[in-house]
Amino acid sequence: MRVSDLKIFDEDPKEPLKNFIDGEFVSARETMDSIDPSTGKVWVKIPRSKDEDVNLAVKAAKAAFPSWSSSTVQYRSSLLMKVAEIVEKNLEKIAILESRDQGKPINLAKRIDLPRCVHNFRFFATAILHHTAPSSHQDVPIRALNYVKHDPIGVAGLISPWNLPLYLLSFKLAPALATGNTVVFKPSELTSVTAWVLMHAFDEAGFPPGVVNMVIGTGAEAGEPLVIHPDVPLVSFTGSTIVGKRIGALCAAQNKKVSLEMGGKNACIVYPSTDLEKAVPMITTSSFINQGEICLCSSRVYVHETIFDNFLEKYVANAKKFTVGDPRGDFTLGAINSELHYNKVMSYIDLAVKEGGTIHCGGKVNVDGDCHDGYFIAPTIITGLDEKSKCVQDEIFGPVVCVMSFKTKEEVIDRANATPYGLSACVFSALSDELHNTASQLRVGTVWCNTWLTRDLNMPFGGTKQSGMGREGATDSFHFFTEQKTICIALQ
Ligand code: NAD
Repeated sequence: MRVSDLKIFDEDPKEPLKNFIDGEFVSARETMDSIDPSTGKVWVKIPRSKDEDVNLAVKAAKAAFPSWSSSTVQYRSSLLMKVAEIVEKNLEKIAILESRDQGKPINLAKRIDLPRCVHNFRFFATAILHHTAPSSHQDVPIRALNYVKHDPIGVAGLISPWNLPLYLLSFKLAPALATGNTVVFKPSELTSVTAWVLMHAFDEAGFPPGVVNMVIGTGAEAGEPLVIHPDVPLVSFTGSTIVGKRIGALCAAQNKKVSLEMGGKNACIVYPSTDLEKAVPMITTSSFINQGEICLCSSRVYVHETIFDNFLEKYVANAKKFTVGDPRGDFTLGAINSELHYNKVMSYIDLAVKEGGTIHCGGKVNVDGDCHDGYFIAPTIITGLDEKSKCVQDEIFGPVVCVMSFKTKEEVIDRANATPYGLSACVFSALSDELHNTASQLRVGTVWCNTWLTRDLNMPFGGTKQSGMGREGATDSFHFFTEQKTICIALQ
């Protein structure tokens, strides 16, 4: 069925959604509920897949590999371009589902998530046409021509989280397929509806059966069987640090190639020369957009003591401009993704109070009407906490930020580096020396200077320390999803 003809755009499905295996939509034996976080009510039933479903999907992907991996890059590129076109044509309608599943405002899904998904497919579909590999002409001890061939690896196991469902899934699917691997992926059980829509786009684009397979289910029941399956030689995971470390250990035991994109507790450093009028709105967005549920959100803001009061006043005023409510309405922020996560975020706000912190704004929000039972939290700004506080050290992954003052550059760099995480950081200053010096000493994968979330897919992306292992991006994904083979030919 064509994506534009899907009934789910007009009415809630009466039947449970299905997995996509070997080019067919197939039921799992059991189903589970998917909750709309803005209402707290079930809106769709989804498969609760187990080993048996994963095994079928891997079998199909393995069977499709010889033909897909030997197809031309032009062919693979053209199919991925078709997926991009189909998603783009249906962007407005898919954005509504992304919002319903995740809790984010529809306007955000339209502006950021869906355009980025389309861009990811186009980017990797065209990047694959331009990769080249090194070669070397050797003279001693014999004359020989050496060159490198990049081979696809096999069935790629892809696992993605709930915060940016299609945005992050497409960042894995597109390079895995463009490089000639076949795929079994498991979206988050909390946000699998748009992945199911995406499978219709692959079907409509004409992908051969078995090249892309989707199993929906929990991490323990469907994710782990995929990770340990002997016919899955590489795993790409995005999610929490605790799960990532487990997946890393499982992959190490089987000598699998693994890429881990994990949690963050990102520092934002504001030096005295900063133009606060320009910077504060950007820092506020970096803290709270998508309900603070982006691994790259600023969650520790360090402000120089000479501008601290001025900054705090402006920051709180800006945060208060963020409206919270029904994701279908004209609000800046929607619902927190699940009840469990809502309780976790609220528990950190309660802890901050117990630890003597001052809450300048935020906390629980009650929304009337249909959203009465949804999970809403306003941008929450906390000061007065010790650096060792759990609120300052732990990843909260919600609209909660701790603001602290600093005196010297050396001190703030030490404090910014003093968490187990190392995903990203922001530095704000009018002095280019200060930006370069600070950026070079921060132990993170990405530093944004006087900006945030500006992502060039040509650049490596990933985390250091407990935030990840490996990098993704044009060249890095190409290297991750292929195996380099050196071929040496003796010359007469
Ligand atoms: P999560 O780790 O709970 O789940 C991520 C995915 O892993 C889900 O699909 C889940 O079902 C699956 N999973 C869980 N247990 C598994 C297991 N034992 N084996 C295999 N798969 C398993 O993370 P989440 O709560 O969905 O997402 C939020 C986290 O993701 C945050 O920590 C956030 O920082 C992180 N994140 C990181 C990045 C990044 O690029 N570094 C991007 C987005 C989110």
